[in-house]
Amino acid sequence: MTLTIAKAIYVLLAVGWYVIRIPHERRSRRTPISRSARGMREIVLLTISFTGLGLLPFIYVASGFPRFANYPFQPLLAWIGAVVAIASLVLFHLTHRALGRNWSVSLDLRESHRLVTEGVYRYVRHPMYSAFWLWAIAQALLLPNLIAGLSGLVGFGILYSFRVAQEERLMLDAFGAEYADYMARTGRVVPRIS
Ligand code: SAH
Repeated sequence: MTLTIAKAIYVLLAVGWYVIRIPHERRSRRTPISRSARGMREIVLLTISFTGLGLLPFIYVASGFPRFANYPFQPLLAWIGAVVAIASLVLFHLTHRALGRNWSVSLDLRESHRLVTEGVYRYVRHPMYSAFWLWAIAQALLLPNLIAGLSGLVGFGILYSFRVAQEERLMLDAFGAEYADYMARTGRVVPRIS
C-alpha cells in the first residue's frame, strides 16, 4: 500500500458512493414530498458535511494542500481504511435498498411514506448515518493529513449531532407509537447489545 493507492481508494469510495446514490436520487425526485423539515439550517448542515467528507479531502488528493498538516503515511492504517471503506459502501447500498422510495437527502416525509424496520433497519435506526461514520473513519485512516483526514469526522459529526434528534422527532410525529416502539428496540448507529 502506497500513499497514491490510499488516495485512489478514497476517490473510489466517493465515486462508489455517488454511483450507488444516483438511481435513488432520480427516483426520489419523482416521489412527491408531503411534509418537510428542510430549511436554512439543513442547507448549512449539508454544506458543512459535504465540505468535510468531500471537498477538503478532494483538494488534498488533487493538490496536496494543506501540506503543513501532513504526517507520515502508515500502510497498515491505510489497509484498515480500505476495509472500512468497503464496509461503508456495502452498508450504504443496503440502506438505500431497504429505504427505497422513503429515502431523502434531507428531512422529508414522502407521499405514502412507510416506516422501514426491516433489513439493515432491523437493529439500527440510522444505518445510513452509520455508513457515513464509516466513510469518515476510512477517510481518516487513508489520508495522512490532519485536516483532510479528520475533516470528515468533524463535518459529518456536526450534521449528525444537529440532525438526528430532529429526524427522530419528525418520525415520532408521523408514526407515533410505532416509531417509539422501534426506538425502544434499536440502537441509533450501532446495534443494541442487550
Ligand atoms: N436516518 C436514516 C435515514 C437517512 S435518509 C438512516 O441513517 O438510515 C433521511 C430520510 O429518511 C428522512 O426523510 C426520514 O424521514 C427518512 N427515514 C429515516 N428513518 C426512516 C425509517 N426507519 N423508515 C422510513 N423512512 C425513514
